[in-house]
Amino acid sequence: MATVIKTVGLTKAYGGVKVVDDVTLEIEQGSIVGLVGKNGAGKTTLIRMLTGLVQPTSGHFELMSEEGRTNTNVAAIVESPSLYNNMTAMENLQIQSKLLGLVQDNQYLAQTLILVGLNPNLNRKVKNYSLGMRQRLAIAMALVGKPQLLILDEPTNGLDPDGIRHIRDILIHLNRENGVTVFISSHILSELSKLATEFYIMDKGKLIKHVTAEELQNESAKKYRLTVDKTGIGRDVLSELGKAEIINSTQIELYADVSISQILGKLSDADVKVTSITQVGDALEEFYLQVLREQGESKGGTL
Ligand code: ADP
Repeated sequence: MATVIKTVGLTKAYGGVKVVDDVTLEIEQGSIVGLVGKNGAGKTTLIRMLTGLVQPTSGHFELMSEEGRTNTNVAAIVESPSLYNNMTAMENLQIQSKLLGLVQDNQYLAQTLILVGLNPNLNRKVKNYSLGMRQRLAIAMALVGKPQLLILDEPTNGLDPDGIRHIRDILIHLNRENGVTVFISSHILSELSKLATEFYIMDKGKLIKHVTAEELQNESAKKYRLTVDKTGIGRDVLSELGKAEIINSTQIELYADVSISQILGKLSDADVKVTSITQVGDALEEFYLQVLREQGESKGGTL
C-alpha cells in the first residue's frame, strides 16, 4: 500500500510554545484516519501545515508520493469553507473547476452535487443555504478536482445528528467507491467511531496514541455497574468475562464486551443474586479520557 501522508517530527511553535510537537505519522492509501483531540490540542494547526496554510517550525512532510502528485490530487476543507454566496451550488462548482484549470464537465459537477445530497438544478443562492447544506457543498467543492486524498478539519462542527450522519455517509461512499483516502479531525471520538479505520489521539500538540478501529472496539468495551449479594464471588466469576472490580460492599463494575444476559447467566450459575444492573457511561469517551489520564500520569502531572 502506498503512503499518502507522511510527516516526520512536524512541529509548530508560536512564541516559543509548541502547539504541534514532533508529530510523526504515516497514512496509507485507502484508509479513513481520524485525528481526535480536545479543542486546543493542535489538530487545526497540524492540518493547516499539511495544506500549506502554515509553515512548520521544524520537521517535514510529504503528501501523496512525489511522482503521483498533481495539483488536484489533494483537497482540503479547513475553517469555514469559502463559498460564493451570491451564486448557486452549480455555479460554485463551475468556478472551482475554472480555478483548478480543468475542462468544465457539467455532468460530473451535477453528479457530485447529487452525491452530497444537493439538487444541481436548485436555483437558490448559497447565502440562503443551511449550515448542513453549506458543509455538503464544501465537500462537493473539494471533489471537483477528483482528489485521491481528502483532508477535513472538523467538518461536522455545529451540525445536528442528521447532518453528521449525512457527512459520514458521503465520506464512506467516497472511500469505498472511489478509493479516496480521508484524514479527518474531530474533538468528539464517538463522531468518528463509525467512520474511521484508525485513529490518532492528539493532546497538547503531541500524538499520544494510535489505535485501529478494531483495537478501539476492544478497548472501549461496555461498562456495567451491578448490585449483588456476594461481591467477592461475583467479581471472581465476572473476571472470566472481562475486567471486574468491587467498588463497595454491594457493587461491582465490569468492563466487557458482553450482553446483560451473559452477565446474568454467569452470576446465576454461581448462585449470586443480582438486584440491579446498568450500563454506565459512554464507553468511547471513557476510553479517550483514560488515554488522556495515562498521558498525564506518565508525565507526572494530573489532568
Ligand atoms: P485544535 O484544532 O485541536 O482545537 P489548534 O491547532 O486550533 O487546536 O490550536 C492549538 C493551540 O495553538 C491553541 O492553544 C491555539 O491557541 C494556538 N494557536 C493556533 N494558531 C495560533 C496562532 N496563529 N498564533 C498563536 N497561537 C495559535
